[in-house]
Amino acid sequence: MMDYHEDHEEEYEDFYDEEILEDSEEYNDEGGTAILNTKSYWPKVGNFVIIPYYVNLKSGISKERKRRIEAALRRIASRTCIRFKKAKGHEKNFIEFISPDKNTCSSPVGMNPNKPNQIKLYNKRSGCFKIGTILHETIHSLGFGHMHKHTSRDKYVKIYLENIKEPRQKSYYLHSADAYTNFDTKYDFFSIMHYGPGSKEAPKMRPKRKYLFYAKYMGQRNRMSDGDVERINKMYQCDKKYWSGAPDDYNDVSISENESSESYEEEETEEEESDEDE
Ligand SMILES: [Zn+2]
Repeated sequence: MMDYHEDHEEEYEDFYDEEILEDSEEYNDEGGTAILNTKSYWPKVGNFVIIPYYVNLKSGISKERKRRIEAALRRIASRTCIRFKKAKGHEKNFIEFISPDKNTCSSPVGMNPNKPNQIKLYNKRSGCFKIGTILHETIHSLGFGHMHKHTSRDKYVKIYLENIKEPRQKSYYLHSADAYTNFDTKYDFFSIMHYGPGSKEAPKMRPKRKYLFYAKYMGQRNRMSDGDVERINKMYQCDKKYWSGAPDDYNDVSISENESSESYEEEETEEEESDEDE
């Protein structure tokens, strides 16, 4: 039985250069990345989906990082009919951004029917507060799983389970076609919901030969892909006029992609190691 609300721990890994080949496309997909269980969708009122959110500053999220969270939410709002408003405190369903006690960036997949959605962003781990990571986690909460768990992914990528520690292997199990859809969109190497390839020495996932062109984009955490935007809008049946707009706003000058100061940056390898303990 699928657990829609399993938390998704994240990995952050460097990309590596890959030989670039010409691509030919061949898409014929069934399952996908978006949950089909509409009970886990956020309710729509009129033309909009209004999602209350709350940034728990007491948990240790700084005001600068709160601004980054809100910048990510604005990016989603600018291309969809999703709108985020500050929670007033009486809402049953809302997103709480909180720094947990343990080292994790995670989110439930879809709206928890009976409790708030906690998006956990560990405050000693700057990677959790990259805008692309915040986008990734928030899109989980909207109702999306990982692209590389797409039912047809074995046509597109090869998984190296031998290089993935056992507790993490479940992050590579296929979604059930009964529970997930891609809303007639293509397998999407550009998706912000795709994991990266792992290291060159110990790859975790690589595109199949004919798709090697996409290797350098796989696992990107810079922006929502056009496919990501399309799938969100299809899930929430957004009127086209709300999602024909510009790509992610790179000109949001109030927010830089990199934080101004990092006094407690951890080593990437340590982060991954502690991630493995989950
Ligand atoms: Zn994820």
